[in-house]
Amino acid sequence: MKNTKLVNPISSIEFIDFEIPLIHPFRTSFGVENHKQAIIIKITDSEGNLGWGETSVSTAPGYCYETTKTAWHIQQDFLLDEMTNLTAEDPQANILDIMDSFSKIRGHQFAKAGIESALWALVSMQKNISLGSLYGATKHKIPTGVSIGIQTDLDYLIKRIGSFLDLGYHRIKIKIEPGWDKQVLSRVRSEYGDILLMVDANSAYTLKESHLAVLKSLDRFELMMIEQPLHHTDMLMHKKLQAEIETPVCLDESIHNLPDAQLSLEFDCCRIINIKPGRVGGYYTALEIGKMGGPGKVWCGGMLEIGIGRIHNLFLQSNDNFTIPGDTSGSSRYFQQDIISPQIVVDDKGYVEIPTGPSLGVDINQNLINKFTRKSVKTDFKY
Ligand SMILES: [Mg+2]
Repeated sequence: MKNTKLVNPISSIEFIDFEIPLIHPFRTSFGVENHKQAIIIKITDSEGNLGWGETSVSTAPGYCYETTKTAWHIQQDFLLDEMTNLTAEDPQANILDIMDSFSKIRGHQFAKAGIESALWALVSMQKNISLGSLYGATKHKIPTGVSIGIQTDLDYLIKRIGSFLDLGYHRIKIKIEPGWDKQVLSRVRSEYGDILLMVDANSAYTLKESHLAVLKSLDRFELMMIEQPLHHTDMLMHKKLQAEIETPVCLDESIHNLPDAQLSLEFDCCRIINIKPGRVGGYYTALEIGKMGGPGKVWCGGMLEIGIGRIHNLFLQSNDNFTIPGDTSGSSRYFQQDIISPQIVVDDKGYVEIPTGPSLGVDINQNLINKFTRKSVKTDFKY
């Protein structure tokens, strides 16, 4: 990665606790979300340039141990000190050094990644280049897929899949859990034929006999992959499962950094990795995992991001190592109005155009941010 050094010193950083209603509740095996909470991170430099980042994690510790509240705590009480200490020594600090200073704090990858994303957005603004050029973007548009939560009614799921296919989405991912799996897939295949289809179990299965029988039986549906079928710490069990089934196992919750990714691919615990930049500690590591895995081995998932995180994810996916359609749907799927302008739109062929302007290449709607801000804290940097 080039352009990793700040050009002008940071003058302030603002953390915004943000909550916006979702149009449809999103249900997974962890529970139901009706609102989207995020921490928006806004960094300003001495010339008035802005860098926008986002920490998107759930409000409950189901997907991972982090929550919006823990991220807020870690950012305010630990990461901010690291940042101010380092930039006091070197106002044109290297972002990779700032991230390195964060490694004193174990884990809390989403908290770290949100700040990192704002720093990349800031340096691209300072250099007057697209954030995409930092992330090695080569594509002008990317095909997109959609992730559909567990529904209470199969007919309704079938109808929703149909409507997303009509909208041009390239790949359908459905959440499964015991009791909502093979009969659902059987119906989806019979209605929609050989669409690009995958499932995500969010660790809802074990290797007990009845579950293993179900997981094996899913091979006949020729899924692109089965995501995180088993417990998030069970690398060995995933390896055993992969040896028993033809469907590629994809790991999501189990992968927190580059060594996890190397281990899981090298030992065939999985054949594909769902990279959520927040979960692996940021976009730099996301790109490193992409480079290590290569095309066909990685793709970019989502955490129901609002516009800022969504744009960062689009740029990541326009890097050549990301060839599998990701989870970045259009803004209108989740929100009445997203905080960016223009909104992210999926065209009628299922593609999203990559913005071209400096930094994020979109305008940020500060009024809308103000409307849904619960609290915010701004810290000035002193030199
Ligand atoms: Mg997943």
